[in-house]
Amino acid sequence: MKTRFDVIVVGGGHAGSEAAAAAARLGADTALVTHRFDTIGEMSCNPAIGGLGKGHLVREIDALDGLMGRVADRAGIQFRLLNRSKGPAVQGPRAQADRKLYREAMQGEIQAIPNLVVIEGGVEDVIVEGDCVAGVVTGDGSLLHAGAVVLTTGTFLNGLIHMGDERIPAGRAGEAPARKLSERLYGLGLQMGRLKTGTPARLVSGSIDWACLEMQPADDPPVPFSFLTERITTTQIACGITKTTPETHEIIRANLSRAPMYSGAIQSVGPRYCPSIEDKVVRFADRSSHQVFLEPEGLDDDLVYPNGVSTSLPAEVQTAFLRTMPGLERVEIRRPGYAIEYDYVDPRSLKPTLEVKKVSGLFLAGQINGTTGYEEAGAQGLIAGLNAALLAAGGGRDVVVSRADGYLGVMIDDLVTRGVSEPYRMFTSRAEFRLKLRADNADQRLTPLGVSIGCVGDGRRHLFEAKMTALRDGQELLERLSLTPNAAERYDIRLTKDGRRRSAVDLLSLAEISIEQLQRIWPELSQLDAAIAGQLSVDARYFAYVRRQEEDVAALRRDTAIVIPEDFDYASISSLSNELRQKLEQCRPDNLAQAQRIDGMTPAAMMLLAAYLKKLTVRASA
Ligand code: FAD
Repeated sequence: MKTRFDVIVVGGGHAGSEAAAAAARLGADTALVTHRFDTIGEMSCNPAIGGLGKGHLVREIDALDGLMGRVADRAGIQFRLLNRSKGPAVQGPRAQADRKLYREAMQGEIQAIPNLVVIEGGVEDVIVEGDCVAGVVTGDGSLLHAGAVVLTTGTFLNGLIHMGDERIPAGRAGEAPARKLSERLYGLGLQMGRLKTGTPARLVSGSIDWACLEMQPADDPPVPFSFLTERITTTQIACGITKTTPETHEIIRANLSRAPMYSGAIQSVGPRYCPSIEDKVVRFADRSSHQVFLEPEGLDDDLVYPNGVSTSLPAEVQTAFLRTMPGLERVEIRRPGYAIEYDYVDPRSLKPTLEVKKVSGLFLAGQINGTTGYEEAGAQGLIAGLNAALLAAGGGRDVVVSRADGYLGVMIDDLVTRGVSEPYRMFTSRAEFRLKLRADNADQRLTPLGVSIGCVGDGRRHLFEAKMTALRDGQELLERLSLTPNAAERYDIRLTKDGRRRSAVDLLSLAEISIEQLQRIWPELSQLDAAIAGQLSVDARYFAYVRRQEEDVAALRRDTAIVIPEDFDYASISSLSNELRQKLEQCRPDNLAQAQRIDGMTPAAMMLLAAYLKKLTVRASA
């Protein structure tokens, strides 16, 4: 068996699949070492991809030719555009997925990549020579060598499942944890901690009284994730909606002492925005009911995922409280819910490329960095995989997405600058430039970067170039067409009567005017392709807002270009407070923009730091 590679990725979950595929797309000879091939693409928790903020990440992964978007398009059985009634900047594409179809599609993608091999097995150690990674050691003692290693082990590091009083060492249900690897990371002197997450019971579909439930249908037509997908062909289904009742809450309250989180058995912090049902009942004590979506796990699967009731209560209590909800009076549980605690690495130990600062060539991505969610994991995997491949090829170029260009950049910058105190998940509110960072324009923002790095295939590149040409032509046409307020009135469009001609772009920027109205005025606009016309409308609507933010974007890019040397001596700035000095020393920001985002950083401290860096540059150039 071959034992030398350019890049080794450990873990075939959501981060690992993207990392391995991205490294291979850049031409790196890549090995994906994972426990089992048949769990590649496994959705450990909810069978769904996307959502608010998360859907943006999926589109960005896709814009860089990653896998998640097109895999979800093949596996999606209920597509919904969330926040449809709000502006496009905060709309989130989401799809409930058929678990089996998702796994099959992801495994098919991985198998089809020529310079990527999958090796089944557990990695127990990382080979480090000096302060550089040199490979990994697998459970059977085999040594595999590589110039770069990406660890994406999810919840497996020292994983411990809790269900009532039971505690089972596991990476997730039925799979052994990774203990030795965790010890090794502690041994490397990395700052580590523990986090937790949970999952609900899986229900038997035939035991649910669907007839009495409100049903939520899929969007018609469904909106795909991938810019490559023309239309969704997988059968679409509806979900059921039920709710907890006062009786449910009573049972949960009466058994709180048997829930590990409340009995003190779990000390670590869980995802605040995805709380367990125990948490919800305690934290929102005044609410008598919480909505629960009953999501079928697949087209030919008899299991149902009850979204909203993750729990670590004993199995018999889970059955009792579930049976108090409408439609679930006779429900049968196939697998009880559980909570899991696991080790994570403080992401402040990482560079913005996701490389460990202390160990050259070692990259971390996914839940191991304190995040939660498939999309967050996939997005980090993509960036880590690209950087690992570039480093293994000799280095000299990093892939770092700016906060001004993508949620990918926002997330990684948040992680490496601020660290995490709870599992990190993406929200649109985390992005300061969210009017620019829309799901609809992810390709316009990121595909050119992907093309310049070389991670975008020819098919996507040609499609993107054709789209950009069509957008430019369409924009020119819209700018050529104009009318006066008086002429507009004849078409029921009321404008301020200032005699100023408005172009079709100006008109489209007004929320109440649609492209269809303009097509009635100027029939030549009907020749525009529907998707191009839609994109031009959204771009026009946001143009003024985005332009207003340009100064802030320019300031961010300016400060990002002011590099702070890795060995910068913060103690040399004598007027800096001890607290800020310590924070700067711990984070060791790469540049001035990153330093500014450290919690507690003051304008005065920023001025001091900027002045010192300027002095350094002057001295270096003298
Ligand atoms: P994973 O998808 O877990 O993949 C890790 C992979 O690494 C696995 O294939 C494993 O076999 C492999 N591996 C691990 N160690 C080794 C080793 N030493 N050698 C070789 N291979 C190894 N996310 C949400 O957004 N919302 C939720 O409510 C939610 N609840 C969850 C509940 C549970 C119980 C679990 C387990 C996860 C939950 N998640 C939830 C998280 C979601 O599953 C993860 O965020 C996501 O899967 C992380 O992706 P990853 O690639 O980092 O890790």
